[in-house]
Amino acid sequence: MERVVAKFGGTSVADAGQVRRTMALVQADPRRRVVVVSAPGKRDKTDKKVTDLLFLSHHLATGEVSFNEPYSIIAERFKTLAADLGVPGAADEALAELHAGLTRGESRDWVASRGEHISARVIATAMGAVFVETGDLLGIDAHGRPTAESYPKLAAALTGDGLFVVPGYYGHGPNGRVKVFSRGGSDITGSVMARAIGAALYENWTDVSGFMMADPRIVPQARSMSEVTYSELRELAYMGASVLHDEAIFPVREAGIPIHIKNTNAPDDPGTLILPTRDLAGTPVVGVAGRRDFTVIHISKAMMNKELGVGRRVLGVLETQGVNFEHMPSGIDTMSVVVATEELQDKLDDVIEEIKRVIQPDDVQVFDDLALITTVGLGMAHQVGIAGRCFGALAQHGINVRMISQGMAELNIIVGVQRDDFEEAVRALYEAFVVDLS
Ligand code: ASP
Repeated sequence: MERVVAKFGGTSVADAGQVRRTMALVQADPRRRVVVVSAPGKRDKTDKKVTDLLFLSHHLATGEVSFNEPYSIIAERFKTLAADLGVPGAADEALAELHAGLTRGESRDWVASRGEHISARVIATAMGAVFVETGDLLGIDAHGRPTAESYPKLAAALTGDGLFVVPGYYGHGPNGRVKVFSRGGSDITGSVMARAIGAALYENWTDVSGFMMADPRIVPQARSMSEVTYSELRELAYMGASVLHDEAIFPVREAGIPIHIKNTNAPDDPGTLILPTRDLAGTPVVGVAGRRDFTVIHISKAMMNKELGVGRRVLGVLETQGVNFEHMPSGIDTMSVVVATEELQDKLDDVIEEIKRVIQPDDVQVFDDLALITTVGLGMAHQVGIAGRCFGALAQHGINVRMISQGMAELNIIVGVQRDDFEEAVRALYEAFVVDLS
């Protein structure tokens, strides 16, 4: 039988009411055989996530301060959850293990992983499903990525038509001890499980109805995307569209398994389908996203174009200082490097000094007020007039464009604008592409 992996995020398992919705959704489609759960998230804006409370407990425990306060909140939440789901006591054993682990000084990762561990055990009991301790089977390498050896092991543990509940977020590191992915990493677990069982689909159930074509805080009327490709999504997620962990697409992408983002609280909404390819007709552009804080280091030197190795030396300086760069627009005698401002932190002075030493430039200037905005869509490729439309819209809004970048793939056009123009520019581009073209 065709199987689907259904991953439910923190708000979908935040309390018994939400877990009941989750369980009803699982039961509504017999293909949903592997259920991946997060730790309980926020029930409302002022609430705490269980994972945050676990980090706090660990922090207190390592400082030899009583961890009782956060621990009691966690224990109370899980006990209430289990009782409300009609399986009182289902969390007790795992909670006792957590208490003992905190007392004996278990690692930060082990403590953090207990939110998903206990959540999965309680929900499995409530659903009459099989809890699978995938932490022992899912290897996470030194870079925080799932290992290739994990897949056959997970496939073997998840065979048959049974209903399995699996904890998200953690596996084991190269030393065999519990290791967590980065925050929000249950999305990666879901993707790994889908790949392991050769799922027909990876459903990611969350609290929004998919990806919006622009940040709704900037464009309140922004529509949701019905389809987006993996590569388009990478561009948008990198620039700030956050619904899914940005590493979650890799395991399924290799196997060509689509991801469907769905809303647990509005299951009839169509959501967003993430696919290897999509029908480009009608929507050449899928979305507009951006980030505010970029710094530009602008270098000028007469006859730079005739001097070999300038680019290599500039990038060498950044590499030695451990600074990632984003773009490198250049002129005949000038070159700029665009860097996320947080990358530079207290390294800026050293970077400038080194550039001066290795390039001997006439001038180096630093601008720390650049915002980058990307307009993404595979349908732009080989289409005349897209850039014209982009710059026309910005000009109409009186926005000065300070940097432009478009790769040969024609997957996106990136513009750099003054930080103060950021929101206006996002709105202008959204209107130009999303509203006009539909
Ligand atoms: N519970 C973890 C976090 O809050 C992982 C997840 O929910 O995906 O980051």
